[in-house]
Amino acid sequence: MSDQHPGSETAPSHRPAPSRPALSLRQWRRRHWLACASAAGILVTVLGVLPGLAMAKREAPPSLVQPLALPPAPERAELDVATLAADEALGLALSGEADGWRSATVVAGDTLGGLFGQLGFGGGELHRALAAESVRELAGRLRPGQQIALYSEQEGRVGKLLFDKGEDARVLVHLDGEEGVREELLERQLQYRVEVATGAISHSLFGAATEAGMSNAMVLKVARVLGYDIDFAQDLRIGDTFSVIYEQVYRDGELLRDGDVLAVSFVNRGKRYVALRHVRADGKVEYFDQDGRPMRKEFLRTPVDFTRISSRFSLARRHPILGTMRAHRGVDYAAPTGTPVYAAGDARVQFRGRQGGYGNTIILDHGQGHTTLYAHLSRFNGNVRVGGRVRQGDVIGYVGMTGLASGPHLHYEFRVRGTHRDPLTVTLPKPEPLGGPALERFRRDTSGLAARLDLIDDGRRLAAAR
Ligand SMILES: [Zn+2]
Repeated sequence: MSDQHPGSETAPSHRPAPSRPALSLRQWRRRHWLACASAAGILVTVLGVLPGLAMAKREAPPSLVQPLALPPAPERAELDVATLAADEALGLALSGEADGWRSATVVAGDTLGGLFGQLGFGGGELHRALAAESVRELAGRLRPGQQIALYSEQEGRVGKLLFDKGEDARVLVHLDGEEGVREELLERQLQYRVEVATGAISHSLFGAATEAGMSNAMVLKVARVLGYDIDFAQDLRIGDTFSVIYEQVYRDGELLRDGDVLAVSFVNRGKRYVALRHVRADGKVEYFDQDGRPMRKEFLRTPVDFTRISSRFSLARRHPILGTMRAHRGVDYAAPTGTPVYAAGDARVQFRGRQGGYGNTIILDHGQGHTTLYAHLSRFNGNVRVGGRVRQGDVIGYVGMTGLASGPHLHYEFRVRGTHRDPLTVTLPKPEPLGGPALERFRRDTSGLAARLDLIDDGRRLAAAR
């Protein structure tokens, strides 16, 4: 799935949000697995109809939606011109287009010494540069695609060294200063812009989201947030609607990447789910429903990066190989061999090995009588050992067709005190909602977004009723 840029006309309520560190996003990425599982499913469910059939209507948010009082960020024009100019100059230097600068792009296997050599400087110069802590750091973690530029006024002697440090900073090292080596961290301004996308599913979620101006990556993020409540592979219906308020990150006036989902509402089969992004007092970013209950649950519903589901839970089903009706006590997720399989929840590993028709099998004990079983695996993750612990979302093995399987798939079972339960419908323990000051803080923080979502959805209903 690739990124697509949202149509800005779907977001008349653009309002830049304040620049802030993007750390939260990184934390959030750890929960990547869920989205993979859910969204891959969606993708496959819709792939057949996606091309040329993206018929979801692009709906402009209703006009009664006024931009809320999100704190304004400096517009580009308001930024310090000198800073911008410097940034542009550094950009030219970094690409080797400025006088006296030579630049190289890191490819896999490069060393900093090799790059110095490539640019015409010897080991002595590298040694001089390594006096700078940032350069030692750089030498230890060169990233393919990264640009390194060296400035020289005197043949064979490096005067300055320049490189990007993350998306929002550059490091300029002066090697010929009067007081020796001097390092400068030059921050780059990121802008966060809030977008609104809203749509109705007429054929597929991805089709509708694309029509609404969302990138597929943003759909994955939404699926990650809601994937504990909605099985995006099986629950979606024509007529489901969604509204998403999300950020996009700009740098130097250009779209850099998608930011976070700030708030989302999703009406699935008539039931409305709402998730609101909230930074807790301890700095942790989490999503909660309107009552302050974490969206994140104890178990994943779909513990695989699946591409399609070949059969639903059923107690009587014709076994694809034995050809007889026999109880099928789980869910099969058909997926190519090697597709990662995730631990549905935090657990102790109870079993890992071959188990008859199940082939390579893992059983996880989640405590309180809950166990999950993963069968037909092609192989196990080497870190998964009986008695060891796994965390929710850890890759424990890979889809295969060991045992009795007509094709590669994950056979997944959810058991409560030894009794098989349908993992798609079993009622899972609900996490505790926020309370006291934490709840107050949450409400203060998210009431604006929640109200905005309500307005959008009310407007949608009004429009639909017209
Ligand atoms: Zn099965």
